[in-house]
Amino acid sequence: MIDTHIHADARSGEDFKQMYLAGIDCAITCSYYPYNIPQDIILLNHLNRILEFDTKRAMEYGIDLKVALGIHPTNSNINPEIIFDNLKQWIESEQIVAIGEIGLEDLTDNEIEIFKEQLNIASETNSKVIIHTPRKNKLEVLKVILDIIPQHIDENQAVIDHINPQVIENVIDTDCMLGLTVQPQKMDRFEAISILDKYGFDRFLLNSDISNKPSDPLSVPKTIRELARQGYKNSEIEKVSFKNAQKFFKL
Ligand SMILES: [Zn+2]
Repeated sequence: MIDTHIHADARSGEDFKQMYLAGIDCAITCSYYPYNIPQDIILLNHLNRILEFDTKRAMEYGIDLKVALGIHPTNSNINPEIIFDNLKQWIESEQIVAIGEIGLEDLTDNEIEIFKEQLNIASETNSKVIIHTPRKNKLEVLKVILDIIPQHIDENQAVIDHINPQVIENVIDTDCMLGLTVQPQKMDRFEAISILDKYGFDRFLLNSDISNKPSDPLSVPKTIRELARQGYKNSEIEKVSFKNAQKFFKL
């Protein structure tokens, strides 16, 4: 199984152990710095920590940790140039599988400018992007994101993440991949399954988004097992268990 969006830096080795035992072989960890950032160098250190330290830490517990780096919208109050330069190098050296998570949260000018530039970098380097949508004002912010994406990048290169039953109709006609985050306070596994049941399994990626917020490290295996218990076909379950992620991120 692949958990397609986690924040490994905020979690313990015990979580990785449980995830591995429950059948997760691979996860994609995304950047998000949960504190104030007084300087760009602090964010750069955070991103280097994920790349060099958390990957090794997860590997000790059996998890192949892939990395997505970028400037999370809530970290947009910095001079982004040093991060942009590093992003290009990380992509070139194939140290990251995507730029992420990026996106919009409060629709500030800084956020929008940094989001657009990261889409441009992804487009120029033919990279994938993982795009965050917020808990608050999700539909309003999603509409702005949907307007911006095609002006900067091919929709086939983007995952729009944290999609739920309230906004699925707004994204189902795009060419983007869609992330289903099964997390306390966001969406439970039965809601995720209701989306898969209605729209099919081809376009979706499953994830736990485990972070410093209330999280369940086992939400992906629990969803996969619930799909099996309810009798969905193995060939369909495999798509959201690992095949879609393998194909999309070229893992
Ligand atoms: Zn996240």
